[in-house]
Amino acid sequence: MHSRPNHRPSLVAVLLLAALCLLPGSPLHAARPTDRPNIVLIYTDDLGYGDVGCYGATKVRTPNIDRLAREGRRFTDAHSASAVCTPSRYALLTGEYPFRINSWNAIFSKVGLIVDPAKTTIASLLKKQSYATACLGKWHLGMGNKEPDWNGDLKPGPLELGFDYYFGLPTVSSHSPFVFVENHRVLGLDPADPLVFGGTPPTKAYPEKILIHQPVSGGKAAHALYKDEELGTTLAQKAVKWIREKKDGPFFLYFATPQIHHPFTPHPRFQGTSDCGRYGDFIHELDWMVGEVLATLDELKLTENTIVIFTSDNGGMLNEGGQDAWRAGHRANGDLLGYKFGAWEGGHRVPLIVRWPGKVPRGTTSNQLFCSIDWLATIAAAIHQPLGAADAPDSLNQLATLTGTPAKPVRDRVVLAPNSSKHVAIRSGKWIYISAQGDGGFPGIRGGPGSVAFSQRKNSDITADGKIKPDAPSAQLYDLEADPQQTTNVIRENPDVAQRLIAQLQQDRANPRTAP
Ligand code: CA
Repeated sequence: MHSRPNHRPSLVAVLLLAALCLLPGSPLHAARPTDRPNIVLIYTDDLGYGDVGCYGATKVRTPNIDRLAREGRRFTDAHSASAVCTPSRYALLTGEYPFRINSWNAIFSKVGLIVDPAKTTIASLLKKQSYATACLGKWHLGMGNKEPDWNGDLKPGPLELGFDYYFGLPTVSSHSPFVFVENHRVLGLDPADPLVFGGTPPTKAYPEKILIHQPVSGGKAAHALYKDEELGTTLAQKAVKWIREKKDGPFFLYFATPQIHHPFTPHPRFQGTSDCGRYGDFIHELDWMVGEVLATLDELKLTENTIVIFTSDNGGMLNEGGQDAWRAGHRANGDLLGYKFGAWEGGHRVPLIVRWPGKVPRGTTSNQLFCSIDWLATIAAAIHQPLGAADAPDSLNQLATLTGTPAKPVRDRVVLAPNSSKHVAIRSGKWIYISAQGDGGFPGIRGGPGSVAFSQRKNSDITADGKIKPDAPSAQLYDLEADPQQTTNVIRENPDVAQRLIAQLQQDRANPRTAP
C-alpha cells in the first residue's frame, strides 16, 4: 500500500488556510474575490455616449473613467430604459419598465415616492443579504406618500426602498428645492423658518437661464448649506467617508451624481480646464469624483472584490451649455442622432463600463444589447440570490454578457421610452421601430428635428431647416447595423419587419412580465 505523498498539504493545513482567508483583516482576505462582492454603481446624470474619453471625446480628459474601461469592459450598445431622469431611475432600481406604472417624465418638488415600497429594488435585495447600502446624490423618485413634507419626515423615500443611508438632492439640480436631504430630513431645517412651496427661490448665479419648477423658498439655513459649486466635492467626500466606514463589507453604494445635468456648476478648481466650456469642466469634475472613489477602493485594498458599474441615466442634452460645447467641437452623443428626451439613439444609448477583477475581462469591449433594467437580475445572479416570482419583471440576468460573449445574446429586444408615450420604440436585433414621427424629445434646437438641423445631422424625414417633411412616413424603422447614425427611415421598404416589431411592441407593453 502506497503512503500519502508528503509534499501535499494536509487537510488540516488546507482548512486552516481557508479559515485564515475568510478572516476579516487577514492580509489574504482583501485580495480574495468572494461570492459577495462590494458593488459601486455610479449613475451619472445626462452623460452622453460621446462625453468621455474612452467613448471618443477629445475636448475633455477623463483619465479615471478611462481607467475603468482599461481595467474592465466597455459596452457599445447599452441603453437606459428611458430617455429622461425619473423613469430611468425607476427602471434601474426596480428592473421594471417605467411605462408599467405610467412614468414617462421627470417629477419635481411636489410629487411623492413613485416606487411601491413593497417592490424589490437593487438596494432591498442587497440589504436582505446583509449588505450595507447607501444612496448618495440625486434621488428624483419622489419622497413622501402623496407629496413631500419638506418640514417633516420625507417618508417613504430611499430608506423605505432598502437604503440604510441617504444623503443628497431630492430632485434634480436645475429644478431642486436647493437643499440637501439626509435620511428622512432636510439638512439644516429651522422650525422658525420653514420651507414653503412657491415664492422666490434662493438666488443662484447660474450661468444659464433656467426654468424653476415649484420652487421651495423659506428655510434660509437649509438653503445656505446647499452650494452649487460645492456639490461635487461634498458628494465625493461623503462617498469616500462611507466606503471607509463600510470597508469590511459587503457594501452597495449607489452614487447618483448630479453631474453633468445643467446648471453646469463645477467647483472653481475645474472651471476653464476643458476645451468645451462649463459643460466639459463639469465632466472633469465628474471624472475627479470617480477618481476619488477608485483611489479609496485602492487604498483600502477593495478593488479586487468590488464591482464598479459606471453608466448614465439618459443621453446628452443640447441645452445652452451643450450647444456651446458643440460649437467648440464636442459631440455629447458621439455620432448618434438625437438627444436626451428623444427616441433616437442619442436619447438612450449611454456609456456603460463594468470593472470586476477576475470576472469581467480587462480592457474588452462588448457590442451586445444591454438595458439598465437588467441590473437587478444581474446583481442577484452575481451574489447567487434568486429573485422572487414578482420581482424585477423585465430584468434579464446579463452575468454571461459581463463575463463572456454569449453566442446567443441574452437580450434580443428591448422597449425604449422617450418622454412621449406616442414615441415608444422597440429594438429587436439590428432593427429599431419608433411609433411616430421625430423623436418625441425636447422642442426647438434642444432636441427633435430642430436639433438635427443645429447639429448638422442628416435624416431622411427631416428638412435642412429642422422640420418634418410633409411626405415623411407616420412611423420610423432603422437598420442600426447598416445605418447606426439613423440617416434613413426604411419603414416603407420593410413593411414586414415593421409589422413584426409593432406586434412585438404591443405584446411587450401588454404583458406584465417580459423576463423569462
Ligand atoms: Ca438625466
